Amino acid sequence: MSSVSASANPEPKESARLFERATELIPGGVNSPVRAFNSVGGTPRFMVSGQGCRLTDADGGTYVDLVSSWGPMILGHAHPAVVEAVRSAASQGLSFGTPTPGEIDLAAEIVARTPVEQVRLVNSGTEATMSAIRLARGITGRSVIVKFSGCYHGHVDALLADAGSGIATLGLPTSPGVTGAQAADTVVVPYNDLDAVRAVFAERGAEIACVITEAAAGNMGVVPPVEGFNAALRDLCHDNGALLVIDEVMTGFRASQQGWYGCDGVAGDLYTFGKVMSGGLPAAAFGGSVEHMSYLAPAGPVYQAGTLAGNPVAVAAGLTTLQNADAAAYTTLAANADRLGELITTALTREGVPHVLQYAGTMLSPFFTDAPVRGYADAKAAETWRYPAFFHAMLDHGVFPPPSAFEGWFVSTALDDDAFSRIETGLAAAAKAAAAATRPDGA
Ligand SMILES: *Cc1c(COP(=O)(O)O)cnc(C)c1O
Repeated sequence: MSSVSASANPEPKESARLFERATELIPGGVNSPVRAFNSVGGTPRFMVSGQGCRLTDADGGTYVDLVSSWGPMILGHAHPAVVEAVRSAASQGLSFGTPTPGEIDLAAEIVARTPVEQVRLVNSGTEATMSAIRLARGITGRSVIVKFSGCYHGHVDALLADAGSGIATLGLPTSPGVTGAQAADTVVVPYNDLDAVRAVFAERGAEIACVITEAAAGNMGVVPPVEGFNAALRDLCHDNGALLVIDEVMTGFRASQQGWYGCDGVAGDLYTFGKVMSGGLPAAAFGGSVEHMSYLAPAGPVYQAGTLAGNPVAVAAGLTTLQNADAAAYTTLAANADRLGELITTALTREGVPHVLQYAGTMLSPFFTDAPVRGYADAKAAETWRYPAFFHAMLDHGVFPPPSAFEGWFVSTALDDDAFSRIETGLAAAAKAAAAATRPDGA
């Protein structure tokens, strides 16, 4: 356990050189947009290793990691049991294109924690939501899907409208390349606005295949559903012959041991999972009741497939992560989230920076605003222009928060006292930087 003093990180010269080279070969220099630091400016750090709660970049700089690969690394980096499981699985062969025993164990672990009876494994959260939507349309014979502004469900064509995550960070309404027909079958309503959902059902109820919602929104910053929201969605869906798809890719096995389901107990019809259950390798899943899932090929007519789906190495990483994410781990995780939240609040309050801190289980994020953030309009109305200065002060002090004001912060069980003291030092400087930031013209 190394103790590194504040501001110890070297200039990111090697990261800058790598980013320049990457930009020649990879669009924008990154393989997923929010990594590029577009909304905060500066040089994205190229990480070369991670141990526990710490990352090391290509210049030898070290960071307390509050991104956790956007959620999956709940146990910290290079957890010995997960590394050993991956090593052992890899040594037995990487992929067979046949069923393997581990898939059953991972499916059983997910089924044991959630309301689903069956799952199909896929390679990414995007594939999970895309497949769940196809399944919902196949089951109901209907076309229209309802989604919420500021919710992100991966880069599925029909789900990019008014989406969170990178789409929010880059300020895009949707994406060129999504056809009018795809967009026309998607109805977007404000998050946490039941009247708007009721109005859509009143007008188009017979056409709606499903409502898809993040179990608790985490891709516009953390915005939990208001009391009764998910239950009301379920009832509206069922009264109208539609399905409720609950996207737990981010919240699953992160918000609590059972995901957000463990927080509000509202069961949807179809579920999507990813991130934590992947252990950090490409794996995700979607699931539901036996009745619904038996519409899926080869049991039923709705086609869905994947050459590497259920890959034995990815399954070993995910299964071992979940096996080690026991009740004690979630107690630690919750304590770490609370401790981080208190440090953020204390630092921002001391500097008089307007803020609210929002939680969904063990996910959290600060918003630079006075009032609770209920949806995307509120999130966008916050003083996000304070975030770049805040972010860079943290980075300079060896702490890595998400490089966007529209993302949640993700703790791991590996955070220790030394990490928290570094976070506290970083926050003191970051709160000052946020207080000193000036509103750009027109913002
Ligand atoms: C990350 C995320 C996705 C997409 O998962 P990928 O693995 O990045 O494709 C979908 N839904 C939610 C809620 C997410 O947070």
